This record gives sequence, C-alpha cells and structure tokens, in this order.
Amino acid sequence: MNESTLRQRLADAATRSVRLGLNQGSSGNLSLRCGAGFLITPSGLPTDGRAPGEMVFVDQDGQPEGDLKPSSEWRFHRDILRTRPEFGAVVHAHSPYAVSLACLRRGLPAFHYMVAVAGGRDIRCADYATFGSQTLSDHALAALEGRKACLLANHGLLAAGRDLDEALHVALEVEALCGQFWRASLLGEPVLLSDAEMDEVLERFRSYGPRAARSSAG
Ligand code: 13P
Ligand code: ZN
Repeated sequence: MNESTLRQRLADAATRSVRLGLNQGSSGNLSLRCGAGFLITPSGLPTDGRAPGEMVFVDQDGQPEGDLKPSSEWRFHRDILRTRPEFGAVVHAHSPYAVSLACLRRGLPAFHYMVAVAGGRDIRCADYATFGSQTLSDHALAALEGRKACLLANHGLLAAGRDLDEALHVALEVEALCGQFWRASLLGEPVLLSDAEMDEVLERFRSYGPRAARSSAG
C-alpha cells in the first residue's frame, strides 16, 4: 500500500475514533506502520477531520518529517511497533469508562469472557507516568506484554492490532467492557471466571470469526 493510501486510512480512523465515542477534542492519537517508520496523528489538533497530509511520518529513531509536530505520545507508538511485529497499528483513547477505571488504577479482571479479546485472562492498568514521557512508554509496554490492550493510570486506554480496523475494534470492546464492569460493580462484587474458564475462551478465540475452519464447525 502506498504512503498516500496509508495517510488517508489513518486520518479516517482518527475521525472514526471520535465518532465511536472513543475520543473528543484533541485527545487520543493513532499510528500506522509505514515503510521504515510509521505515520502518526499530529499533536494538539482535533482528532477528527484531519487531512491525510497532516499525518506525520516518524522514522524508527523518532525523527519526524515536515512542519507539524507528531503526537506527544510518539514514543509509545514507536516502541510498540518496534517491539511487537504482530501489530501494524496502535490506537490511544481517552474514552469515558476506560478513563474512569484507569483513574482508580484498576485494570479489568476476568469478569466477562470478552476480556479475552485483548489476548489474555485480564487487561492490565499500566503504572502512572506523565503523558508523552519515555517512562509512560516503558510502563505501557510492560502492561501490554502478551496483550493487545491495556489501561493507562489516570489517563486512558491503549489498543493495538494487525491493522487500524482491529486496533479500533479492540479499543471499542475494551471501552464497552469498562462500562460493563463499572455497572456490575455498582450492584455488587462481580463473580470472576477461573483461569481454566478463561483459558477455554482463549482457545475458542483462536478459531472464532466469520470464516469457516476447514476441519471443524467451530
Ligand atoms: P497529542 O495531541 O499530542 O496526540 O496528545 C493527546 C493525548 O492523548 C496525550 O496523551
Ligand atoms: Zn492521552
């Protein structure tokens, strides 16, 4: 895919993140692997309605091209894309329920089987660090180990996927799960699934999806 198509896709996904209720104003940022570096949304501009030409190319050493500044969070985008070859795109959001839970510095336990959408038995909350810092990136990478998503303490959520569609899908599911956990917690102490129950879900997820497997009915 050429760079102008990737720029268009990233700008469209950023607008979608606002329409889906994941971001507002200039909160959040998104990135997409591109050649020897990545494209990222610009810093300090509304996340929706950006033009493809406003997406900023950053190389692996963190050097941006052009006049606009890359998102202040370029470090965690770079570090995730550099250390996790399975991911092609990263979405960061300040969505309401994820932020609320992250302000309690609590991740999501196995209260619902869909927690496995992030690839494990729970979804961790990364330790707090100042936005844009290398320390925040280090904390985020640790919380993302073996996972496609995590919360960021007193900040928001991070989700990654092989492409922008998957990263947005995971982000939206995590936001929904945070809202569900919140509401269940208002009624009482949610009953958690066991490790064995979650492992069974994780196994099922390996073949879950619209395409029929050749050897089983799923
Ligand atoms: P940017 O506008 O620099 O991307 O910052 C938004 C944000 O969410 C920082 O964490
Ligand atoms: Zn943020």
